[in-house]
Amino acid sequence: VRRSGVEKTETTCGYCAVGCRFEVHAKDDDFLAVQPTDPDHAPVNDFSTCVKGKFGYEFVDQETRLQTPLVKEDGEFREATWEEALSRVASEFAGIRDDHGPDALATFASSKGTNEEAYLVQKFARQVLGSKNIDNCARLCHSSTVAALKQTVGFGAMSNRINEDIGETDCYLITGSNTTESHPVLATRIKQNVRDGADLFVFDPRKVEIAEHATQYSRTRPGYDVAWINGMIRHIIDEGLHDEAFVEERTKNFEDLREKVEPFTPEEVERLTDVPPEELTRAAETIANADTCVFGWAMGMTQHSHGTQNVLALANLALVTGHVGKPGAGFSPFRGQNNVQGGGGDMGTLPNNLPGYQDVTDPEVLDRFAEVWGERPPGEVGLRVPEAFSEALAGNVHGMYVVGENPALSEPDLSHAREALEDLDFLVVQDIFMTETAEYADVVLPAATFAEKNGTFTNTERRVQLVGKAMDAPGEALPDWVIVQELANRLGFDWDYDSPADVMDEINDLVPIYGGISHDRLEAVGDGLQWPCRDADDPGTPFLYEEEFNFEDGLARFVPADMGEPGELPSEEYPLTLTSGRVLYHWHTGTLTRRVEGLMHHVGESFVEIHPETAERLGIEDGEPVLVESKRGEITVDARVTDRPGVGVVFIPMHFAAGAVNTLTRESFDAVSGIPEYKVASVRARPA
Ligand code: SF4
Repeated sequence: VRRSGVEKTETTCGYCAVGCRFEVHAKDDDFLAVQPTDPDHAPVNDFSTCVKGKFGYEFVDQETRLQTPLVKEDGEFREATWEEALSRVASEFAGIRDDHGPDALATFASSKGTNEEAYLVQKFARQVLGSKNIDNCARLCHSSTVAALKQTVGFGAMSNRINEDIGETDCYLITGSNTTESHPVLATRIKQNVRDGADLFVFDPRKVEIAEHATQYSRTRPGYDVAWINGMIRHIIDEGLHDEAFVEERTKNFEDLREKVEPFTPEEVERLTDVPPEELTRAAETIANADTCVFGWAMGMTQHSHGTQNVLALANLALVTGHVGKPGAGFSPFRGQNNVQGGGGDMGTLPNNLPGYQDVTDPEVLDRFAEVWGERPPGEVGLRVPEAFSEALAGNVHGMYVVGENPALSEPDLSHAREALEDLDFLVVQDIFMTETAEYADVVLPAATFAEKNGTFTNTERRVQLVGKAMDAPGEALPDWVIVQELANRLGFDWDYDSPADVMDEINDLVPIYGGISHDRLEAVGDGLQWPCRDADDPGTPFLYEEEFNFEDGLARFVPADMGEPGELPSEEYPLTLTSGRVLYHWHTGTLTRRVEGLMHHVGESFVEIHPETAERLGIEDGEPVLVESKRGEITVDARVTDRPGVGVVFIPMHFAAGAVNTLTRESFDAVSGIPEYKVASVRARPA
């Protein structure tokens, strides 16, 4: 639509996985504003966006955007033509592959790009490089969710809808989610529903904003979540409050569960977690007696060395109470990045799954991909992100292709991650800004933002929505899908996709859960399609598991969760427990939001939250600089003295390069999913 030279383009938010829709108003490639769009095309946010969605897009047309390819020479970057940069990348990758084999290369895909781009990035890694090593940032956020839900119910995804289920349930258990600051529009739905009478139970070591609205807030000890969840299950079974018919007809392994939770008496739970027995039993009874309940969680549950066990425990609780597979109920892992569900999972940027969560070792699946691609993908499980960094340090991974990710700030124990980046023979970073990671690169390729390309994102409720191109990218920057295609062709392939819609056609062929999702159809329906959507007549699946779980026998499995301790416990030397997370005004490693003046005005630098009792004991004053140290390193940040964290617990946000919290965190990983334990590390603090 053109009026007064202002072009209005409907699109999907590029920040978080709530997936709000709006119009971008642009003129002469200037990003002017975000405005509401047709409410029928905005299924999640017919009322509003959050502060980031409304005011956080100043970064799009900034002068500091990468506008030409850069190559490093004698330690300095210089501008290069696309021809030179791409030829260099192609020849270096080919050289590493010839000298050390394809698995000496690793690709780190983005959850910020479109589905079509993620699909092509994994295809590039597997078909063009011939490497099994492809992973993405979901490894660092919800990989433990995916691992647990695949075992118990079959799909590693949210089972329900945001508005009709989360927005209208009778009861919530929210744990390990700072919902108000991380998923603001979704939190607004929850708070509206609580005002209308729904019960809200929040279990969290930190008194996050949504806890202010709770029926009951229970402070937990970081790293002991299996105990209180198993304790709830035990109490529910003991009181005969479980949903016997559901358990009988739709699940198996109930007796194993009953046995596993037996030791978790309310008194034992209190000993392990500090949650008083009356709080535990009240929450358990209310959840069990509710007609419907939603179980919402995020990284406070997943980012632990036993993150998969935490999510298994939650899944067991939802199943034992029968709150799955019906309107108003279900599993709600709140996904983070705008397209982490699609780009970080559905599209197979995973070392163990081809697109559509198809097993990379299944010969039939490999045959099917070989038929369409012309080459058979490597049939082995590849390296996960943290393993790729370890293998780089060990001299086994020589080259890395990082697309739209910032591991130099996001990996745990940054000194190690940065050493690994330095040790690589060849590093390519494709991004929109010169990030902390791009500084280590040999070649930097300038990419387009979400506002400068077409495609699709899949939000946290599995809804695939269109992304619309509102303007051209600055300078010579190009969409990721174009760059990857150019690289593939320089490495001897003959890719000829002429648009993201064309890529989606191939996805339809190879990914059964996306079989009926085309750009034309998305244009026609306006408000997206929720997978599984298997063919052109399939209306999609608003909530999962209404009739059967995603296994051949249709039954959910109770997989009893084991209680484990955090990888690092407080000691005399490091007596405090560090936990980390987000603030409303920033996003992940801050590569976007730290460039937006209005957001920086609200929170412009890192800080440490510390409980008044702890602060007094340590002589720390509110607003004064504090030195926080762990065995890995030290940072200095200003103190915020507040009772949001418990006594002995400190919180530092994850968004800042100065005072980077991951200087302090530890390389301790969940054995099943490989997720790092960002949420627990032992530190000490003193006035700086
Ligand atoms: Fe964007 Fe998420 Fe905010 Fe919606 S809630 S406007 S999707 S950042």
